[in-house]
Amino acid sequence: VTLLTVAEILKPSIKNGWAVGAYDVPDISVAQGILDAAVADEAPVILMIYPAFVPTEYYKTYVSFIKEEIQRSGAKAAIALDHGSNIAEINAAIGAGFTGVMIDASKEPFDKNIETTKTVVDAAHAYGISVEAELGQVGLGSDILPEDQMKSLYTKVIDSKQFVDRTGVDSLAVAIGTAHGLYKFEPKLDFERLQQLRAELEIALVLHGSSGTPNDQLAQAVKFGINKINVYTDIRMKVLESIREKVMADPIEMYDIPDLMAITRKDTKTVVQEKNILFGSTGKSKLYK
Ligand SMILES: [Zn+2]
Repeated sequence: VTLLTVAEILKPSIKNGWAVGAYDVPDISVAQGILDAAVADEAPVILMIYPAFVPTEYYKTYVSFIKEEIQRSGAKAAIALDHGSNIAEINAAIGAGFTGVMIDASKEPFDKNIETTKTVVDAAHAYGISVEAELGQVGLGSDILPEDQMKSLYTKVIDSKQFVDRTGVDSLAVAIGTAHGLYKFEPKLDFERLQQLRAELEIALVLHGSSGTPNDQLAQAVKFGINKINVYTDIRMKVLESIREKVMADPIEMYDIPDLMAITRKDTKTVVQEKNILFGSTGKSKLYK
């Protein structure tokens, strides 16, 4: 079996000091680049569909393509919904054959987040699909908040155990100082909090907003118990820079659309291979049957 659920793919990493890279897939060439890296490094990977990039009516098309590519490559991989925000997206993902879904009700009050997450867990587990939820809020790198306000959004250790017990969720996205997209401030992760969360919980912990976070802090987060790291902006920026460099330097007629897709595939592979080393996932495919 090469297609795994998100819970299956994360399990060997829990409390073992390494993490699986999870990448948003806005197009075919990105999926191929991720799988190229997975095969080259014998590293497990998670391919994610982000609702803002792919409307729900295309989930089936996307998943059938990605599944075929996973089978062809032989990579150990899972297919997950990233930041599902409503039941329509969750149901579409379940119906399309995703092997994991994320429900992000992190902006809701604690009890409402639990209620929404529990509803999704019940629906997804009926199909053997894993669920990730978010507690605390991982914000945007473009939002510069005063430190006390930012820290008030961090995952509270005291709430985390209750949240996991009451929802039955398989993995938890934690807010410990990272943010989505491009940073306008220097992230400084709260490792004390991460260690407390790791000691409190048995499930996989997820870090969003890794792009732009200094590598030494990411390595430390992995060491202290993060098991899934979401990446998108690092791929986006590398691909865009390559395309700008090449297309701006040469007469535009020299390029065709497949050339741009080839650049995208190659750059994605490069970024994912860097992450495989940083996250310690290189060579870990052999841990799966
Ligand atoms: Zn995220």
